[in-house]
Amino acid sequence: MPPLTIDADRLWQSLMDLAQIGATPKGGVKRLTLTDLDRQGRDCFVGWCKAAGMTTRVDAIGNIFARRAGSDPSLPPVMTGSHLDTQPSGGKFDGAFGVMAGLEVVRRLNDLGVTTRAPIEVAAWTNEEGSRFVPTMMGSGVYAGIYTAEAMHRQKDVDGVSVGEALAAIGYRGDAPPVRVGAYFEAHIEQGPVLEDTKTTIGAVLGGLGQRWFDVEIVGQDAHAGPTPMELRKDALLAASRLVIEVNRVAREYPDNARATVGHMRVSPNSRNVVPGTVDMTMDVRNARDETLLAMVADLRKSAEAIAAECRVAIDVREVLYFAPSHFDPALVDSVRKAAAALGLSCRDIVSGAAHDAVYMNRVAPTAMIFVPCEGGLSHNELENARPEHIAAGANVLINAMVAAAG
Ligand SMILES: [Zn+2]
Repeated sequence: MPPLTIDADRLWQSLMDLAQIGATPKGGVKRLTLTDLDRQGRDCFVGWCKAAGMTTRVDAIGNIFARRAGSDPSLPPVMTGSHLDTQPSGGKFDGAFGVMAGLEVVRRLNDLGVTTRAPIEVAAWTNEEGSRFVPTMMGSGVYAGIYTAEAMHRQKDVDGVSVGEALAAIGYRGDAPPVRVGAYFEAHIEQGPVLEDTKTTIGAVLGGLGQRWFDVEIVGQDAHAGPTPMELRKDALLAASRLVIEVNRVAREYPDNARATVGHMRVSPNSRNVVPGTVDMTMDVRNARDETLLAMVADLRKSAEAIAAECRVAIDVREVLYFAPSHFDPALVDSVRKAAAALGLSCRDIVSGAAHDAVYMNRVAPTAMIFVPCEGGLSHNELENARPEHIAAGANVLINAMVAAAG
């Protein structure tokens, strides 16, 4: 049997129509979670789902689930989805692609009169971005049992509005209980440059990188830049600079998709003729394997000790966040590869450097993700862009992988 294909024009049009809700002058989208614009986006999605014959339900944290019945109601649903909220200067595709691709899967199955054995569900997860309310991936986190809905309802934005109040205000505080999920797929733009760089259409995502974040405080001594000889200084910025080089070295030397970044630094007193006495900085260390991640951190701690001794400063390295690496379901990842091959699409294995709702769903259901390229690897940016043929290709892989899982 030849592989199924979706209606590429209809999917693209749905994405462009949805992007009108919260459209920005530069061509992006600003649709912050649980705002009235988010309500409009949700209402639009629910309306389309109902028009496609689906039944919808909403849970306590506002996640929306739209179901297309299967022939065997005893089977757990095969689910796909992503998020409808955006960053303040977000794009048209981050999140929206995964939700609209799921809707298009259902519309296409309707066109073809195909009934799957297991039900098909499309999820729109609440507050993936974590921009208005922390933490990120709130909706999928509640679904996967990482957080309780009650605790999340108490989270407040900068204006003191709670998640619970915001959910009630937009009419999306429901009571649907979670259901067992047979398989979860999420289609998403890569948000990085690898697929474009390697001229690959589909990324079969093996999992997400583990992360360890650190706050680093370096204390030396403020001193006059003129009278203080070089060998007698306790220059915190010199030590910080050497540590930045080490962070970069470690990420380049270690295997398993190692990444390490210093993205923030505060120099004190930050005056041109004073030897800096204090530096606060961050380190973000990532790896696909826990052991390698720990080895990178041990290496960095050793480097920091050596630099402290040589620069005669104190370096305090404090871990502030740990997020374990995730490994998606090998059989489902393989079904993504197989669907790509059947469609004649180039495909490579890839790991996700960013976290997604799929990372939490992976804890409660067999999970896989499908990446497609985005222009210049740019995301969380109004200029975020993707090619129509790549969007269609990702949805084509999705429909075949989902039908294979749903029987
Ligand atoms: Zn996203």
